[in-house]
Amino acid sequence: MREKGSTSRNPLEGLEELVSRCVKCGRCRSVCPVFQAVGREPSVARGKMALIEAALGNPMAFSSEELEGALSLCLLCGRCTQNCPNGAKAKEAVERARILLARDGGLPLLKRSVSKVASLDRKRRDPLVRSLAGLQKIILDHGGFQRGLLFKFTDSKWVPKIQTPFFLDRSRDSVTDGIGGRTVALFVGCSIHYLAPHVGEAALRLLEALGFRVRIPREQGCCGLVSKAMGDLARARSLAERFIETFGRDEWEAIVVPCASCAFHLSRGLVPLLEGTGLEHTARSISLKTVEMSSFLAQVGLQEILKAHPERERLGLVTYHDPCHMSVGLGKRKEPRALLEALSRYSYREMEGADLCCGMGGSFRIFHPRVSRTVSRKKLSAIEESQADVIATTCMGCWLQLNEMVQTRHVRKSVVHLAELLWDELKQESE
Ligand code: SF4
Ligand code: SF4
Repeated sequence: MREKGSTSRNPLEGLEELVSRCVKCGRCRSVCPVFQAVGREPSVARGKMALIEAALGNPMAFSSEELEGALSLCLLCGRCTQNCPNGAKAKEAVERARILLARDGGLPLLKRSVSKVASLDRKRRDPLVRSLAGLQKIILDHGGFQRGLLFKFTDSKWVPKIQTPFFLDRSRDSVTDGIGGRTVALFVGCSIHYLAPHVGEAALRLLEALGFRVRIPREQGCCGLVSKAMGDLARARSLAERFIETFGRDEWEAIVVPCASCAFHLSRGLVPLLEGTGLEHTARSISLKTVEMSSFLAQVGLQEILKAHPERERLGLVTYHDPCHMSVGLGKRKEPRALLEALSRYSYREMEGADLCCGMGGSFRIFHPRVSRTVSRKKLSAIEESQADVIATTCMGCWLQLNEMVQTRHVRKSVVHLAELLWDELKQESE
């Protein structure tokens, strides 16, 4: 059963132009992680552009399940757009075509459910996730058969544990004033709130240690990237409006976001979603204030503070995984490396293939677990070859996928969010 979507704007606008720039040269085949895993033409940008082009001439095509299936096989990593010699924007074309598919054909049940749950406000979503946490605990603690079912359903030998109390229930705003009256807001997103509150805690403590007063608006929810990626424009817009309502105050100079994917969407995706509405102007100013966390920390000079720390006994080697939304989307590669290189307790080693996609792709992992796993194999080899003890990253989707990879395949390495290592070091110094 598919639910019809609704949108007042025309996603067809500009789609023909995006598609027409593709000259079918096939250069994108060498950079597309999905094509490299699947090896079939519809999985690469060129194939998708051809399918969209054909669909544009057929008014019924965007209600086709075949087209929905083909276009769903894309991580939205952006490598095709970034590397296209002809300026064709395949990622953007796929995003727009998905909106048309959701509008004309409706979202498939699983996608609709994921988007619906993601878009619920905290009052309705937290109790639901709390019940799931109870159920998960029973299954993981006792149930042999149920445990097998859970692993089969998730196609994994490792599932992230839901952590209660959730981050927004356990954290508090700063009690002291920021140095020079400087205040920032913290947006944590769904994964930190439900699965990794310790990452949120590290982010909060880091910002406070640097002299900022940190505000954590309690009404914050999902950034909307998952809904947008599925083509659920109505829900993506309503989440964008909610973000503006929650964070559109003047009391903070920046909105700091520890997850690169949320940061990418909130700094680049809000304006296109709200263009032509009464909120467009506010969306522009809020997007400018929204910044990915490691970029913010590098901007305020944390690496200099770390470099001033005395040499310490090294605990091992650390390497860095580039999330696609960070390196391709935001174009940020130097900032997290500068921070890691400044650590006194770890030596930094660059990984060959640091920018290989991990295969998570937000909800891609849910809808295409096998392909996701095939994509992740190259990354795992790169991680193993790096001989690093710790793999740091800046996106919570990658954090989940990398953890799943190393746990399922019994690779003895830790996967951490960069904020954890940074706070660990600052904490040692202040003790
Ligand atoms: S998307 Fe770009 S690289 Fe790929 S086939 Fe078209 S023109 Fe060539
Ligand atoms: S966005 Fe990434 S996964 Fe999708 S077609 Fe382009 S290169 Fe392939």
